Amino acid sequence: MNGRIIILGGGESGTGAAVLAKRKGFAPFLSDAGEMKPVFRELLTQQSIEWEEGKHGRQLFKGAVEVIKSPGIPDSAPVVQRAKKKGIPVISEIEFASRFTSATKVCVTGSNGKTTTSSLIYHMMKKEGLNAGLAGNIGTSFARMVAEHDYDYYSLELSSFQLEDIVSFKPEIAILLNIVPDHLDRYNKDILNYLNAKFRIAENMGKEDAFIWCRDDPAIAGEMEKRDIGASLFSFSLDSVPRQGAYIEENRIVITTQTNKTDMIMDELSLKGRHNVYNSMAAGIAGQLLRIRKEVIRESLSDFQGIEHRLEPVLKIHGIEFINDSKATNVNSSWYALESMKKKVVWIAGGIDKGNDYSELIGLVREKVHAIVCLGKDNTKLVDTFKDVVSTVVETSSMQEAVRSAYYLAKNGDSVLLSPACASFDLFENYEDRGRQFKSCVRNL
Ligand code: ADP
Repeated sequence: MNGRIIILGGGESGTGAAVLAKRKGFAPFLSDAGEMKPVFRELLTQQSIEWEEGKHGRQLFKGAVEVIKSPGIPDSAPVVQRAKKKGIPVISEIEFASRFTSATKVCVTGSNGKTTTSSLIYHMMKKEGLNAGLAGNIGTSFARMVAEHDYDYYSLELSSFQLEDIVSFKPEIAILLNIVPDHLDRYNKDILNYLNAKFRIAENMGKEDAFIWCRDDPAIAGEMEKRDIGASLFSFSLDSVPRQGAYIEENRIVITTQTNKTDMIMDELSLKGRHNVYNSMAAGIAGQLLRIRKEVIRESLSDFQGIEHRLEPVLKIHGIEFINDSKATNVNSSWYALESMKKKVVWIAGGIDKGNDYSELIGLVREKVHAIVCLGKDNTKLVDTFKDVVSTVVETSSMQEAVRSAYYLAKNGDSVLLSPACASFDLFENYEDRGRQFKSCVRNL
């Protein structure tokens, strides 16, 4: 027996860590102050793992050698402080998982585009025939994957929360896509704290590892001038030509790394929009560093099927195209969605905003949007920002009403874009529920 390990939080990460700990001969005990989902309760019981919910018991840390904290629990939580006061090391789930695998890890972080880019990389790995897994923030936790599989490669999607409490976790390849203010509530409203959390991805990397970053992102570029990153550096840009990394030459994307060079025609990328050029570039650099064949890189970037709720084409009805971008939960991702629109747009937006500043969107909205359908409990801010920019702004309070209004307002040749720039919890369970309701209402038109 390797000792008692306490796992805080009983969601995907926590239960994954508990399963791995059990498998590796520890005595895990999982504690969740809230109510756990039945599927996780069953999993723990089935694996004979002890757990509690609705509280953190008084004797919780007795005899504990280590605490594994789920990413949803902030460092400031009293239970975490209690453990730290007792001198028990608190680590994250990815830190724990990484101890039990020697696989090559490609880790993707950033404010937007993580799921898309990590999925692209996984697609490439599979096409090349690598024994690879896709894990992290995207679905199955890294710990659960390590417990149940023996992969040689991982494409890992990592949020800044997951990077908190790493100790020696080290990606062989890391990608930092972009940094825009998001989740600032967790970082005492200080962007520097958020930047620091994102940059933790590189803190243990050495020369033999690769750090891939976006040169066009002012927040990242500013930090790169100040920080000393131990890894070999690769960057991508639409505006300049990095010595190592990816750039645009006429209508082609060029990827250069050490002695390798791959290029492909930009129009052949399967994912559309400027943001997806960035995502594809980042994935392409990673692919080349993994020594994936050039033709496989090109093929993967041109036949990748996209992911649900991210600029997902739904249907065309009477010449009107419906697009589901429900995953756009902040202003920046809606900016990229609007930017990528080639036709006139009826834009469905709104929900719960995390201190949004919509003024960044005014230029694009003026150029491309002829009607806005607000969909949220409180639409005041949206209406106030855009009432003088767009001739038609309507308010709705259900998806059915929103889709019907948008259909009514759209003309032949328009796009109806659901890209809310807001979280969904006022009217929906989550962004997936919002996207699914959108698709079903469109299909019922
Ligand atoms: P994440 O996993 O980081 O939330 P997703 O790949 O799920 O990112 O995309 C989230 C939203 O952001 C989608 O609306 C998508 O269209 C948009 N998006 C994707 N890539 C980028 C990018 N590189 N920059 C800005 N927005 C992006």
